[in-house]
Amino acid sequence: MSIQRVTVYAASSQALEPDYISAAGRLGKCLADAGLTVVYGGGSHGLMGAMADAALAAGGQVHGIIPEFLTQVEKGHQGLTSLEIVDNMRTRKARMLENSDAVVTLPGGCGTFEELFEAMTLKRLGQYLGPIILVNTNGYYDKLLAFLDQSVREHFMSKTHFDMWQSVAEPEQVMAALGSAPKWSRENIGQAAVRARKPA
Ligand code: AMP
Repeated sequence: MSIQRVTVYAASSQALEPDYISAAGRLGKCLADAGLTVVYGGGSHGLMGAMADAALAAGGQVHGIIPEFLTQVEKGHQGLTSLEIVDNMRTRKARMLENSDAVVTLPGGCGTFEELFEAMTLKRLGQYLGPIILVNTNGYYDKLLAFLDQSVREHFMSKTHFDMWQSVAEPEQVMAALGSAPKWSRENIGQAAVRARKPA
């Protein structure tokens, strides 16, 4: 599958260390340089804003999707290629994933976690098939990756599900990770439920 549109999940926080902001900007540039269209939450703050600004500065196409109520609190990014205003967070989340060929997750808080876990859950159920790449800046996601590991070890998920996501340390590794992500198909729904183990 050729990748043209990438959905990026990322922090809204404006209080982050420079390493995180730098990684967000570098990701935006890498995606734009590769000619990919970026889809994201439409905000102008935090890692979202840094990623979008850098993608635009590199000549990329950036499509934002923001719920109406959030435009009253913050304006949404005004310089985007296109900004779509939707009714609520649920529609936004669905729209961000529709027609998207891949997901890239920068460090973030609960909003980012929710988006990431929805993409993983839909992938487990064969409803979303693209790569899911975590950008693990400064090991931010180490504990999350360890927890996912534990959930497989304790049979809440199966080893097959390890193929659903990959993590990279640097944004410059994202394009290679997108290219080498294990294939996933609708048939994977057959492994969605972890079956009972045979008695030892
Ligand atoms: P968080 O990681 O909790 O800051 O949430 C960021 C994620 O949730 C982003 O990927 C957005 O899609 C969405 N989001 C949360 N807050 C905002 C906001 N103020 N503006 C735009 N999107 C937001």
